[in-house]
Amino acid sequence: MTATQGLTIEQRDSTGNRGTALVTGGSRGIGAASAVALAADGWDVGLSYRTEADQAARVVAACEKLGRKAYAVQADVAEPADIECLFDEVTAHLGPLRALINNAGVISPAGRVAEYDAARLERLLRINVTGAFLVAGAAVRRMSTASGGEGGVIVNVSSRAAVLGSAGEYVDYAASKAAVDALTIGLANEVAKEGIRVVGVRPGLIETDIHEPGRLDRLGSTPPLGRPGTADEVAEAIAFLASDRASYMTGTTLDVSGGR
Ligand code: NAP
Repeated sequence: MTATQGLTIEQRDSTGNRGTALVTGGSRGIGAASAVALAADGWDVGLSYRTEADQAARVVAACEKLGRKAYAVQADVAEPADIECLFDEVTAHLGPLRALINNAGVISPAGRVAEYDAARLERLLRINVTGAFLVAGAAVRRMSTASGGEGGVIVNVSSRAAVLGSAGEYVDYAASKAAVDALTIGLANEVAKEGIRVVGVRPGLIETDIHEPGRLDRLGSTPPLGRPGTADEVAEAIAFLASDRASYMTGTTLDVSGGR
């Protein structure tokens, strides 16, 4: 097999199944929409949630209605032991992992950098950076052809904040997503010869529960397209990046931000 062939994700099998994809933070928002978009695209879907078991069950049911297998696991990405259990449970129920959507993430209350304390920064970085790195590493250990895996793809969910900086609101969040962008580039180069592509999306202002009340009303018309995006619009980009339609893309991050 040549190096180029090693980067190619296998086509669907005879049942139309692309394999198993895992979405962290798949109970709500962009993660939930991605789980359903992946199921519609032929993936069996594992998803994690932190507290919202009922929402996760609804997403599982939506994936199953599309004819795919789905399974939800409670797992906090800030807890390394949870991450290992998550991967083990999902692969035990759905089979070998071929795609990870590294999506779980949080923001903190809006504020200026001069107001941040260490506890705020440690919480945010533990979930958005340490969590994202550990989740990506767990996926590589299972998918790498160098350790007996079948290869696959990692889609990291970043944010346009990584480029814009989020002054006066969430500079810590923006910095955490800049770290995710660096993870995408560096890890892509590390594992390109091991059958794994690593790509990212940078959503702009998207209608989900992550925003403080009133924020979407205040900023929603500021993107050049004149409106906030939907979770489904980000999920479409994620499903594309996870598929073999994006087989020559690695180490790159796609903006899904209405031009902002
Ligand atoms: P959301 O609606 O608040 O959903 C967050 C999801 O992550 C939920 O499924 C939640 O689980 C899960 N989660 C939160 N903390 C977790 C933890 N410690 N461990 C495991 N799971 C955890 O957020 P969203 O807007 O869909 O955001 C998803 C991703 O997109 C995040 O990485 C975010 O930074 C990024 N993003 C969002 C926007 C936007 O405008 N919405 C823009 C750019 C980037 P529970 O349901 O159990 O709480």
